Amino acid sequence: ACAISPKAIVNDACASYSTLERLNCNVKPALDELTQTTDFFSHYRVNLFHKKCPFWNDENGMCGNIACAVETLDNEEDIPPVWRASELGKLEGPHARHPGKSMQKQQPERPLQGRLGENVGESCVVEYDDECDDRDYCVPEDESASSKGDYVSLVRNPERFTGYAGDGAKQVWDAIYRENCFQRSSFPHSAALGKDTSAKGPAAMDFKAVIEAAGRQQVLEEQRQHNPLTPFVAKTGLEHEDECLEKRVFYRVISGMHASISTHLCWDFLNQTTGQWQPNVGCYVSRLHTFPDRISNLYFNYALLTRAIAKLGPHLSKHHQGYTFCLGDSDQDAATRAKVMAVTDRAASVPQIFDENLMFKNGEGPSLKEDFRNRFRNVSRLMDCVGCDKCRLWGKLQTAGYGTALKVLFEFDNNDPPEVPFLKRTELVALFNTYARLSSSLIAVQKFRGMVEQIESAY
Ligand code: FAD
Repeated sequence: ACAISPKAIVNDACASYSTLERLNCNVKPALDELTQTTDFFSHYRVNLFHKKCPFWNDENGMCGNIACAVETLDNEEDIPPVWRASELGKLEGPHARHPGKSMQKQQPERPLQGRLGENVGESCVVEYDDECDDRDYCVPEDESASSKGDYVSLVRNPERFTGYAGDGAKQVWDAIYRENCFQRSSFPHSAALGKDTSAKGPAAMDFKAVIEAAGRQQVLEEQRQHNPLTPFVAKTGLEHEDECLEKRVFYRVISGMHASISTHLCWDFLNQTTGQWQPNVGCYVSRLHTFPDRISNLYFNYALLTRAIAKLGPHLSKHHQGYTFCLGDSDQDAATRAKVMAVTDRAASVPQIFDENLMFKNGEGPSLKEDFRNRFRNVSRLMDCVGCDKCRLWGKLQTAGYGTALKVLFEFDNNDPPEVPFLKRTELVALFNTYARLSSSLIAVQKFRGMVEQIESAY
């Protein structure tokens, strides 16, 4: 009775923001431990540099391109070179190429040749299988590319402000919302609702100006109506009577992912005057606070991933089929498994929080599943059009993470015992790290909310 129905726009008390926030307080320490301290979950294999944008010529979308950078920051030349978008978007730390089939034969012992760092247990990181499956919601990483990608440290490359913006970024988001949503008219996003008051670029995000631009009354009114401490947001403009459930869920997943990316870039923001990395409350107000539907979609994604992780838990434990995390290193394998179970057990500690059984069932639902999957794959392909390395890394990881969650929820039934989904290493890494992103976003939103309240009480 407590599960969030994907139908719900106004969610019941069991799934209020505060319920999810309490759950998150419990899950987050274990999730941070898993994603930041284990070799298995802190390194991701991804093809970042060898795929072309399949939808348009993306040369103009690159952050290195001065046109993109100038639009992002008021005057790029005035910014010290290390703070320019092209620099901030670069990957940091060692990364290693995937060994490839021939290399695997030559050097099975140390296929990455220690290039990820001497302390990285390669037996936990290297992945050989590239098999793909009809049930995938994401494009397999090796599709149409000769390279199998690079191993990258996620800890060394946190998701944060990079300065990537302008036409390139806009084109990607537009394509995600417009081209990949079932029917354009069914998915009015905030801009279409005429509420978008975002400042044009990070440099313009001065809190006071944003509040004024947004219309202070409107902000206060929205806050009153959508107090985030009471159950989920009402009336978002998305709840078209004729819009079917599956399409709405698709939209919410995308919008929630976008909201999470925005939260991170506002939270870990570079103040180009002082050179300090710090939260930017104006950025939060203009992108999230004034759009309660976006925050609601963020929490919705948290509930969806919690359910996927809880459902997967038993299959990752030793008792069932088990999963080998570090081949040939039983100590590390056991330690990694214990950290995984700490997360899955906590995710499963609340009553089922999202009810996936309601989807793809009635009306046009069953016929939509393939369409839904194909569209989500297109979103994952669009990540090759993102013109900033770090943003592309996290964009790819998160679309793969949501794709894995959708696969766990919708491609495997809930018999007792449920069917066992076999997931590739990249899928597991993406799933748990996407959950960790959402978990940090929830914390950041809570802190931002407190900052806004403080500022408002001083008015
Ligand atoms: P954008 O965030 O670009 O939004 C475009 C339009 O979409 C808005 O005008 C609004 O109408 C609508 N919109 C915005 N948010 C939502 C939502 N949650 N739900 C529904 N509609 C919405 N920049 C970084 O600094 N660091 C990163 O790590 C990073 N990663 C990125 C990953 C991807 C895949 C992409 C496409 C971009 C990434 N960017 C990143 C760029 C960043 O997302 C913004 O595009 C950029 O900061 C410009 O912001 P904006 O204010 O123009 O609006």
